[in-house]
Amino acid sequence: MRRLALIAFVLFAALLPQLRIIPEFWITLLNYIGLSSLVAIGLVLLTGVGGMTSFGQAAFVGFGAYTTAVMSGQYGLSPWLALPVAIAITVVGALIIGALTVRLSGHYLPLGTLAWGTAFFFLFGNLHFLGAHDGLNGLPPLSIGPWSLIDGRAYYYVIWITVLGAVTATLNLLDSRIGRSIRALRGGAIAAQSFGVDTARAKLTIFVYAAVLAAVSGWLYAHLQRSVSPGAFGLNAGIEYLLMAVVGGAGSVPGAILGAGIVTVLKDQLQNILPKLFGTAGNFEGIVFGLLLVIMLQSARDGLWPLLLRLAPAPAPEAAPAAAAALTRRMPAAAGARLLDVRGARKTFGGLVAVNDVSFHLDAGEIVGLIGPNGAGKSTMFNLITGVSPATGGNVSFLGEEITHLPPRLIARRGIARTFQHVKITPDMSVLDNAALGAHLRGGAGLVPALLRLDRREEGRLLADAAEQLRRVGLGGLLRRPAGSLALGQLRTLEIARALALDPALLLLDEPAAGLRHLEKRALADLLRSLRASGVSVLLVEHDMDFVMGLADRLVVLDFGVKIAEGPPEAMRRHPAVIEAYLGGVA
Ligand code: ADP
Ligand code: MG
Repeated sequence: MRRLALIAFVLFAALLPQLRIIPEFWITLLNYIGLSSLVAIGLVLLTGVGGMTSFGQAAFVGFGAYTTAVMSGQYGLSPWLALPVAIAITVVGALIIGALTVRLSGHYLPLGTLAWGTAFFFLFGNLHFLGAHDGLNGLPPLSIGPWSLIDGRAYYYVIWITVLGAVTATLNLLDSRIGRSIRALRGGAIAAQSFGVDTARAKLTIFVYAAVLAAVSGWLYAHLQRSVSPGAFGLNAGIEYLLMAVVGGAGSVPGAILGAGIVTVLKDQLQNILPKLFGTAGNFEGIVFGLLLVIMLQSARDGLWPLLLRLAPAPAPEAAPAAAAALTRRMPAAAGARLLDVRGARKTFGGLVAVNDVSFHLDAGEIVGLIGPNGAGKSTMFNLITGVSPATGGNVSFLGEEITHLPPRLIARRGIARTFQHVKITPDMSVLDNAALGAHLRGGAGLVPALLRLDRREEGRLLADAAEQLRRVGLGGLLRRPAGSLALGQLRTLEIARALALDPALLLLDEPAAGLRHLEKRALADLLRSLRASGVSVLLVEHDMDFVMGLADRLVVLDFGVKIAEGPPEAMRRHPAVIEAYLGGVA
């Protein structure tokens, strides 16, 4: 049903310029909608998916437009030669600007984009070889072989085929290993890093990708207009592009086109109506757009596309991913080998000593319980081991290698996976995709194969493995559900499946049984026993003493950051210092 509607729509769109009853003006409008769509698609990825708001995209449109204006307009070179040059300049420019901006956090990031967006506007307007405020004229039209694309109806095809390509590539990217790591940014950088994602690199990747789409739009724009001037690449334009992404639905690719359509048509209408109402003295559509942006953010944050989707019949649920040839598994460490060695670990927060010279170890095939009252330093110890929060002193080694000051993603690569006491998942991503983030390091497909969908075999394996881990923890029936719709206990279990998808040698579980019912706890205990039997070691933080006592080979007991006892569960139950720590407050 959906497919049929899509085919009909594409056919209609392809025939549109041939219908002579369609006025020239409509075709022009559609061309501008296509050009804006390219920029807005990049913004959907950057802002809606990656969480980075940019007001500066118009500057990259300028990069594309001015490159071809100089090369083809001033030096008479072919526009087709200018295109790769424009893309190359944009990639280099975006890498430099991105390296400086994407590390900014919170409100500083949009402010940063405002800064360079404005800077480039003035740069374009003041450089003499770019024609300063007047810009550059006399660009040649695009031509393909003998056809010169002067006619707006012919140019329509060039623009919309490019848009179709951009939509396809972007959807492919989102539906890939790299796309998953980008979407996971919204679940928090720490979770993504703990599964091997280089988050700085992921952000830079989409920053450059969005900039390239903007530059291609600028290149097309320049040859449609046959002239360029700085006004089209200023902050006003940057805000309009952002509005398009927000109106359509900042998280959905087709929404970008919808938003570009609405804003472009609205702008055209406003330019007709507003001067009649208020005179021609000011730029009133700027005010209307500003208001519209605020209203959208208040009442329809997800934009109009999701509302439109609700009217369409729901797609049939996809089948679970088939088990393609399985992923290779890690060689288990030799039984009894020293897996983890923590020596004199120390962590201070200002004056508070959260972990105070703690030493302990864990051997292959062991389940060790790390217990202690609230605030004893257990979660902090997890953060030290996994590199999330670097130790103030002491050191940690894994399989004989020092890992103390490595970043989380390199520690994950060595085979340490974890769950979080405060669940860190991406709510609007499916249960399956959340789990598959865990398998990130077991795949290697890069950006280009993802864009071209050449990664299907590997992706199939990653998803099949993630689905297998979900079945193992009892979530096999919920693969396609958005993770945000799960109950807290299920989310904790999902985190375990995600950790298992890394194929860990060591699993760190922070209160995995909290929120589970009796039967679920029993299933979890069985799972941990079977993991131990298969050579995976577990470091377990848990408050349910019966649960820990029944599972752990050894307990390490912390109190106020200090290790107060260590030994087999039965001995710990009778240890005076342990009894004192647990009952001290009560007694
Ligand atoms: P547990 O997991 O054993 O309940 P935590 O490791 O979470 O304990 O906390 C140990 C101590 O360190 C607590 O007093 C806590 O308030 C403090 N703490 C933990 N993280 C931070 C932080 N990021 N900044 C300041 N204090 C912290
Ligand atoms: Mg804790």
